[in-house]
Amino acid sequence: MSNEDSGMPKGAATTKATVTQVLAEMNRDGGTVIPFNKYRDFGKRWPVPGHGEVLVVPLGGLGRIGMNWTLYGHDGKWLLVDAGIAFPPEEMADEVDALVPDPAFLAPIAKRLVGLVVTHAHEDHIGGVDKLWPYAITCPIWATPFAKAMLERRFEEAGSLDDVTIHSFPVGGSFEVGPFKVRSVRMTHSIPEPVALAIGTAAGTVLHSGDWKFDPDPLIGAPTDFDALREIGDQGVLAMLCDSTNAHKDLPTTSEAQVREAFRRLFARRRGQVAICGFSSNVARVASAGLAAAESGRQVALAGRSMRNAEETARSLGILDGYPNFLAEPSHLKGLERSRVALVCTGGQGEDKAALAKLARGDRRLPAFGAGDTVVLSARIIPGNEEAVEKVCSRLRSRGVEVLHGNDSIDGLPLHVSGHPGANELRELYRLVRPRYAIPVHGTEMHLAAHARLAREEGVEAALVCDEAELIRLTPHGACVLGRVEAPMLALSRDENGNRVPYKPQAALA
Ligand SMILES: [Zn+2]
Ligand SMILES: [Zn+2]
Repeated sequence: MSNEDSGMPKGAATTKATVTQVLAEMNRDGGTVIPFNKYRDFGKRWPVPGHGEVLVVPLGGLGRIGMNWTLYGHDGKWLLVDAGIAFPPEEMADEVDALVPDPAFLAPIAKRLVGLVVTHAHEDHIGGVDKLWPYAITCPIWATPFAKAMLERRFEEAGSLDDVTIHSFPVGGSFEVGPFKVRSVRMTHSIPEPVALAIGTAAGTVLHSGDWKFDPDPLIGAPTDFDALREIGDQGVLAMLCDSTNAHKDLPTTSEAQVREAFRRLFARRRGQVAICGFSSNVARVASAGLAAAESGRQVALAGRSMRNAEETARSLGILDGYPNFLAEPSHLKGLERSRVALVCTGGQGEDKAALAKLARGDRRLPAFGAGDTVVLSARIIPGNEEAVEKVCSRLRSRGVEVLHGNDSIDGLPLHVSGHPGANELRELYRLVRPRYAIPVHGTEMHLAAHARLAREEGVEAALVCDEAELIRLTPHGACVLGRVEAPMLALSRDENGNRVPYKPQAALA
């Protein structure tokens, strides 16, 4: 399959045009004219990072939302931040489950790769880990307790837990990996324990934001550690790689606490059965649904394996202390009075095998939903899934079920809030961190361009809009795009049972 038909990164010709455009735009905006070496195609010959520089290679997450992998090079070593998957384009979805950078290309630097540090446990940040470690990549992994437990559960299922090394660090903790001094910073997002990473080197500090928003009341975990961000900014930040998901629009300040209040009012007012459908890893959202349901005198169960796994993991770590337990099986809700029934389930992206689609089909293991009952899709629909979601919703509506969406509200309170920063929150972060250079990540081209404009307005010396697999050089004297390395993608498929199978490299690559 060619790069063109799979949505893979574009070739070098486009890349060069992009770099020229960026430089032209920087000059037009009055940014510092950075030294720009001749653009090189490094192919498989990666440069050895020097003591006086930080090299940055975003392997994914640029021009797309997904597959976040970023390599940092310094003093002869490389550090990887996140190893997620991208979901395949629709035309590949039958055979291909996920896309990752092909680990074969890491062979030239495998001996210099000192570790993987994980920012949080979303699929687009950790989805590749249990498929590639330890089969194709063996470096040790660092993660917060929640992300570590989520990874361990997967390694256990794959039978490879004994063959990987996972260190944990507390949220806000510091640790060293080779020549990199890493300080984690507590952020807020739509999953427990999201962290930003201040990566300290002899050539300067790079702040890798991870996914974040400023949630004043995240319910699970404490709000963002603004003092740490300001302190890191005071000490001087060479560059920031930061989330661009909502960079094109200002957003009101929103919080999980608002969604919980919306759930409370909804559960109290509805007389029929209510189902809340959301992302399984959004533990605060699941906890809110459980709490609001219990307060309205309902029994509540979870439906969906991934949701039960995330809930179990969170509970085992004490993250859900004080929250009511869920029923062991959704079938235990059957036969209860309708006003006493609540369900929290997966499938908000219209997935055919997930709980919501089963509910819509009238699966007998779930309570029967019909006239007078309500389903809330408490999530954003990922672009590309609209049709599948609509199919499930229309099935529910044909049964008489009222379907509410994430952009609906109860008394002005949202039924879903985004986990990513709007332009206003981004500006606030830039004012705290004050990086010299901005490298927007985690966004499509439109998001990256909007983020770069914003960063320049906030006074960065230059904002570099790059392509995947480009090699960026940062030194105290400037920043430039050196060229690109060869980094093809790998398609991961499912086995006959629909489970993702670990990638086993061919003998020649092992
Ligand atoms: Zn993400
Ligand atoms: Zn995320």
